[in-house]
Amino acid sequence: MSVKIVINGAAGRMGRAVAAAAAESGAEIVGQVDLGRELASVADKAEVIVDFSSHEATRSVLETAVAARKPVVIGTTGHAPALKASLIELAAPLPVVWTGNFSVGVNLLFYLVERAARVLPPAYQAEITDLHHQFKKDAPSGTAEQLVDIIRTARSLPQEAVRPGRHGIVGERPNEEIGVHALRGGDVVGEHTVLFAGPGERLELTHRAGDRSIFARGALRAALWVADRPPGLYSMQDVLGLKD
Ligand code: NAD
Repeated sequence: MSVKIVINGAAGRMGRAVAAAAAESGAEIVGQVDLGRELASVADKAEVIVDFSSHEATRSVLETAVAARKPVVIGTTGHAPALKASLIELAAPLPVVWTGNFSVGVNLLFYLVERAARVLPPAYQAEITDLHHQFKKDAPSGTAEQLVDIIRTARSLPQEAVRPGRHGIVGERPNEEIGVHALRGGDVVGEHTVLFAGPGERLELTHRAGDRSIFARGALRAALWVADRPPGLYSMQDVLGLKD
């Protein structure tokens, strides 16, 4: 069964990627909105609104969705924590999937890393690398930071356990440390590896992104999933059935 979607931010890189992947994902595009066109003018036609625009647009997207009573998928990033909290409150009457990374593979990596960090004893020391193209401005990547938080939470470690890079006489590595290292160069779309180095064996979990269609397909999977959910704020872990 096909789900009717309206894309907000349709002229952008992600908006176009969502449009390109829609048909094969079982979604029918019934509206494409970008600057200069009102989302409210097409929202009624949608079963789900998919937003990849700007953090400055999210409040008006949610107000329109609440008025039209439409589920929403939000991929837009960059909201300050206080703004995000108020937007989540605003969205309370709706089913909403909101995540900064819609890749199915990355979300499965999050799940597997959480499991590994719990099952492996502290002597299996965790190190994270993120490899990205030369133009990336932030380091470590947001995904690497999320991986750090997952391991830290699973192992009940404080923020001080995080060791971004090493240089000079750093001393022996305690089990409790989480190393995180940013590699930059070339045109690499994005790679993340979590290494658990233990006595006598190593486990490495790696995700390699090929292009942004992985986010588009994940967002469309979320749109099909959220179309008939009750109100609530959902993550990709919910969409993929990875919550216990
Ligand atoms: P982009 O700049 O290529 O496209 C954004 C589009 O939104 C532009 O066409 C712009 O004109 C439009 N826009 C801006 N304000 C608008 C408004 N008020 N109403 C309607 N349209 C508006 O950016 P992009 O690379 O496509 O990324 C879009 C967003 O998605 C960013 O926040 C980015 O960080 C995020 N993103 C999320 C994921 C994920 O998996 N969640 C993946 C990639 C990018």
